[in-house]
Amino acid sequence: MSKIELSIVIPCYNEIECLPELVKRSCLAAEKTMLTYEVVLIDDGSVDGSWMKMEDLKRAYPQLCLIKLTRNHGHQLALSAGLARCHASKYVFVIDADLQDPPELLSDMLNKLQQTDADVVYGQRIKRDGESFFKLATAALFYRTLRFFTDVDIPVDAGDFRLMKRCVVDVLNSMPEHARFIRGMVSWYGGRQEPFLYHRQKRFTGKTKYPLGKMLMLACDALISFSVTPLKFSIKIGCMGVIISILLAIYALCSYFFGNTAVGWTSIIAVIVFIGSIQLFILGIIGAYLGRIFIDCQNRPLFLIEKVVEASSADD
Ligand code: UDP
Ligand code: MG
Repeated sequence: MSKIELSIVIPCYNEIECLPELVKRSCLAAEKTMLTYEVVLIDDGSVDGSWMKMEDLKRAYPQLCLIKLTRNHGHQLALSAGLARCHASKYVFVIDADLQDPPELLSDMLNKLQQTDADVVYGQRIKRDGESFFKLATAALFYRTLRFFTDVDIPVDAGDFRLMKRCVVDVLNSMPEHARFIRGMVSWYGGRQEPFLYHRQKRFTGKTKYPLGKMLMLACDALISFSVTPLKFSIKIGCMGVIISILLAIYALCSYFFGNTAVGWTSIIAVIVFIGSIQLFILGIIGAYLGRIFIDCQNRPLFLIEKVVEASSADD
């Protein structure tokens, strides 16, 4: 098949019902650009028959490249597997499988990328449909907290929906870290990055694959991968704890000398719990960084691929 200029990369986890519409709309959007293209679908260990559906769709859409991971690796690693696969295309467009980020915006994003000579055009949400108040509030809080803690210029209200040039994808592929927060890694690249304001749609069908637990894990990965401020913060809390403990010791000594030694049990317990919890908190922060170092030292592959079906042109 002729050289591919555009790859659309889509991680999928139990998205069987979205797949036909997703593939149809992605291919249509790609055709409008007049570039030669492939649509890379990554099956992240789905258990709902998504892989069989993908193989079915491949018969009608030869431009599909299918990657099946051995098990569920999580969104960020599934996306990394897709990015690692599209090693030659000039442009890489990343979308979610649930059509919340409309593939039809591709042409406008490509125009913006070419006109501004940017390296990345990232989608920035001005409105989000169909999300609970809780999700909107936690997401807004997360992006702002992250900006506060890190020196990398990670834009607020932007997910992984973006169009990138080859040079950016090459750098992402060369980064070996396991705890991946790809939108942060793209920002870390620097270069010229332009926002593209858009209205995020409701999920096409099915439920979110990012429940609260996974969202918190992603937030931790983001914070720990892009900032050592929590470590510095733990020193400050430790110092505060020491100062409070010294004041309490002075208070206990004064009570002893002035004969008020029958100090209540409650206050002793309160002090022990207070100091103990500070120590645990700080140990937790240090442990989180240590865990990250341990995992990276193991040097295991980021993802394991079971099967790949390459894209081919309609006339192959
Ligand atoms: N996803 C994945 N692996 C996972 C969880 C999610 O590949 O373990 C994919 C999912 O199929 C979707 C994208 O990641 O294409 C984003 O997930 P979702 O739309 O459920 O997240 P939300 O938009 O609710 O934050
Ligand atoms: Mg979604």
